Amino acid sequence: MKAAVLETINAPLTVADVELGALSVGQVLVRVLVSGICGAQLQEIAGNKNNAKFVPHLLGHEGCGIVEEAGVGVTRVKKGDKVVMHWRKGEGIESDFPSYVFRGKPMRSGKVTTFSEYSICSENRVTPVPADAPNDLCALLGCGFSTALGVIEHEAQVRPHESVMVVGLGGLGACCLKAARFARANPVIGVDIHDHKKEMVAALCGGHFVNSAKEDVAEALKRTLGMPGVDVVIETTGVAQSIANAIPLLGEGGRCILVGQPKPGESLELKMANHLFGSAEGKTVKATQGGRFMPTRDIPRYVRMYQSGLLDIENLVTHRTTLHDINGAIALLKSGKANRIMIDMAA
Ligand SMILES: [Zn+2]
Repeated sequence: MKAAVLETINAPLTVADVELGALSVGQVLVRVLVSGICGAQLQEIAGNKNNAKFVPHLLGHEGCGIVEEAGVGVTRVKKGDKVVMHWRKGEGIESDFPSYVFRGKPMRSGKVTTFSEYSICSENRVTPVPADAPNDLCALLGCGFSTALGVIEHEAQVRPHESVMVVGLGGLGACCLKAARFARANPVIGVDIHDHKKEMVAALCGGHFVNSAKEDVAEALKRTLGMPGVDVVIETTGVAQSIANAIPLLGEGGRCILVGQPKPGESLELKMANHLFGSAEGKTVKATQGGRFMPTRDIPRYVRMYQSGLLDIENLVTHRTTLHDINGAIALLKSGKANRIMIDMAA
């Protein structure tokens, strides 16, 4: 089968033949239909995830596929099931690391990977969904969209008509804008350094846009929206300066959720730290791992919400590509011009 392999840190992926190893206890063989590309993979390609020692290895952690074979001990899925492939742990067996063969040598990989035509996954990294759940929705629920919904629901606990500001409008930021709208946040403000994101903010959530490279965000909040601070800031860039600038924008009782991770070893500055105490409630700065979404509980629920019209994924996927052209898609993602890019594995 074909797969995209990270052979060398900071180099294009190698699209090549990779052989599947045997399934061990608790493993599931999945035929991948579509996979998203997430900022975490850019970090892995750059070697920022402490992963340089594991190369060559496979990548990708949000996908949709069909179960081809269930290994010994697997009870939660069976051959023919449609599944969401996700990086957070759900219920089921936590298996050993899957094994493959690449260039004649054994290659281990993570418990879920999606940049390949077939993938061996740990049972607890796949969640069955109805056969008619749209493939793109399922892939988005593997990471980006579930993280965004979890951040809004579990971490920020957004109430209707609270203000939500999303800083950094890549794929995850786009998902956060959508999730904020579904929570009936108002206003929703998107902050980025690229002007073309203005249309995207309008299309995704009907919200306001501020270009932080051109104007002072605090000034823009006051001038355009007439508000001194916001109830919720969701910081997706992980850039230390961006985080430092965002935290002082919190209003009374505000919550700043850090989704993007600073580089290893980097420090953060708390500007005018006294403001965090506020005058009545105090403010919260919280780092989250994937919005604490729980795949077994939340993914089927999000699919039901979609099917009943409470969620949509319009304008989240802006580009499609094939496994063969994955390096072009990675360059596009780095350029900031895409929201989510879907890889069609069978194409
Ligand atoms: Zn991700």
